[in-house]
Amino acid sequence: MNEALEKLEHFVDDGGLHLVATVNPEFVMRAQSDPEFARVLASAELCLADGSGVVWAARRQGCTLPGPVAGVDLVGPIAAMCARRGFRLFLLGAMPGVADELAGQLRAAHPDLAVTAHAGGPEESHDLETLQLIQERGADVLLVAYGAPAQELWIDRLRNRLPVAVAMGVGGAFDYLTGRVSRAPGWMRKAGLEWLHRLARQPWRVRRMAVLPVYAIKVLSAPK
Ligand code: UDP
Repeated sequence: MNEALEKLEHFVDDGGLHLVATVNPEFVMRAQSDPEFARVLASAELCLADGSGVVWAARRQGCTLPGPVAGVDLVGPIAAMCARRGFRLFLLGAMPGVADELAGQLRAAHPDLAVTAHAGGPEESHDLETLQLIQERGADVLLVAYGAPAQELWIDRLRNRLPVAVAMGVGGAFDYLTGRVSRAPGWMRKAGLEWLHRLARQPWRVRRMAVLPVYAIKVLSAPK
């Protein structure tokens, strides 16, 4: 987590746009059959292991990742960093009102924080309004909550028009942080069972999550 935050801070100091992805097993499986998504992930300046499933796979391949860094866990520390360094934060996505509520929470925790919220949408019809707002308010760190792969593809599509230093997809993080969706308890996350909690709370995910056993088999059978 600290290493990730340090990297993000350097990205803002360096300037230019940096795409950051929070990669979970669903991302990995999608990237295998979606060359466009694979290209965008490969072009990211930083891919974080969002959850124990990716850390497990990385370790089996001999890559020593210290632990998972989930997007949802990064939002608070990013806000603290922005407040400390005077960086402007922009929360984009989720249903109307959600990002606003989170911005209120973050402002209460960090009274000096410059934070703007906007629901927008991943479709091109929203682009002009969203880009104008980002331009007007200014943003160094942009968190995009459109879900994967829409958020990563959105950042990639507007790469040359986004006046921000860090653009990071955070999936359902705004819903979790405003209490709209409950998170798995710590012991379940540590045991790699967050997927089970998500499935119980959001059964409509079953089709998307059907790739997880295939992921586990691929990881177990991959040459080391
Ligand atoms: N979302 C959005 N616009 C859309 C589709 C989705 O703002 O057109 C938001 C949705 O409200 C939710 C997030 O994107 O806050 C996706 O959350 P989910 O947990 O499905 O994402 P994941 O982490 O699984 O990629």
